[in-house]
Amino acid sequence: MDIKILDSTYVADTYARFPVEIVSGKGSIVKDSHGKEYIDLSTGIAVNTFGLCDDKWIKVVNEQINLFQHTSNLYYSAPCAKLAQLMCEKTGMKKVFFSNSGAEANECAIKTARKYAAEKHGAEYYNIITLTGSFHGRTITTLAATGQDVFHKTFTPLTEGFIYCETNNSVMLEKLAVENKVAAIMFEPLQGEGGVNPLDKDFVETVVKIAKEKDILLIADEVQCGNGRTGKLYGYMNFGITPDIVSTAKGLGGGLPIGATMFNEKTCNVLGRGDHGSTFGGNPIACAGALSIFERLDNELLEGVKERSDYIKSSLEGAPGIKSVTGLGLMLGIETERDASEVIAKCMENGVMPIKAKRKVRLLPALNIPMDQLRTAIEVIKEAAKPE
Ligand SMILES: *Cc1c(COP(=O)(O)O)cnc(C)c1O
Repeated sequence: MDIKILDSTYVADTYARFPVEIVSGKGSIVKDSHGKEYIDLSTGIAVNTFGLCDDKWIKVVNEQINLFQHTSNLYYSAPCAKLAQLMCEKTGMKKVFFSNSGAEANECAIKTARKYAAEKHGAEYYNIITLTGSFHGRTITTLAATGQDVFHKTFTPLTEGFIYCETNNSVMLEKLAVENKVAAIMFEPLQGEGGVNPLDKDFVETVVKIAKEKDILLIADEVQCGNGRTGKLYGYMNFGITPDIVSTAKGLGGGLPIGATMFNEKTCNVLGRGDHGSTFGGNPIACAGALSIFERLDNELLEGVKERSDYIKSSLEGAPGIKSVTGLGLMLGIETERDASEVIAKCMENGVMPIKAKRKVRLLPALNIPMDQLRTAIEVIKEAAKPE
């Protein structure tokens, strides 16, 4: 039976899928069931950091599968401990909790912030300020954290204690922080799902200032913009700030499900035994793969991300039909005169695979996408964006 029919018959209808069935791929080339090839500019939404079927990643994942695929968190295992060490050494954070997705990484961050504030300031200090246009996940609590009304409808009552501040509105932030008992401010250093919206430097400075004055924790949601995506190891590093809690997922695993919540000196001992857990969290195969990804996020790789980013921006900016290019590194949003969905459909027709973010065409290519493939892809986008 046709896979599209099978899927629409038996898989819950929560996704608007493109009429394309992926069957294989290598690097930045994806192949569909008709043998048609696409240059991949979306990497499964910033997940396949080094593209499809990366040789080094496959090798370590295979080696781990042949040792053991899972144990419980009642025992020690090397991939999880080694990955935590590397993440801490490269960021200066002190400890890591592993889970399986971005939403879970954020849940852990939120629980930690609430416990910290309850113990330090009192149980009524449970509020978390998040930003409009943000996206933090699909669980009831991370939906509540997400500062977009469209996600809230029909799922109420959501978890209490989230307050939304208009993105880049420092005056409003100061007011909210004074008027409420606040545990944390949570933000994406570069908003992804909300439309690849950058934060102003001034606003980020205000966030840091208020947090410091009031002992409010800073939570950076690096689920999408972390792990080299913006040209820095983590998105917050573009602002020279140091969050108290960093959540990440997507690109960390290079294709296998993993979430991680990192804690600094202030927060690393907040969660104690029994406070939190996950059956699959720290899975040895996912961690072994992630270790191979994380080891390669070095300066040379990050320079390559910046070069590719500059190339994309300079090629697209000012081109006919292109209004603006926002974002950092290889997390870019293109505002087009034509409807973004039409531009994307045209790209797909011509063998290039970008995705959407609100009204923009979003690019999230592999961090090592070969330059010749990138050049071809950008020409296809330019052609697709041209007004008729
Ligand atoms: C994708 C995303 C999430 C949710 O991650 P899941 O793995 O889908 O649960 C949370 N925050 C941000 C910034 C994201 O981009």
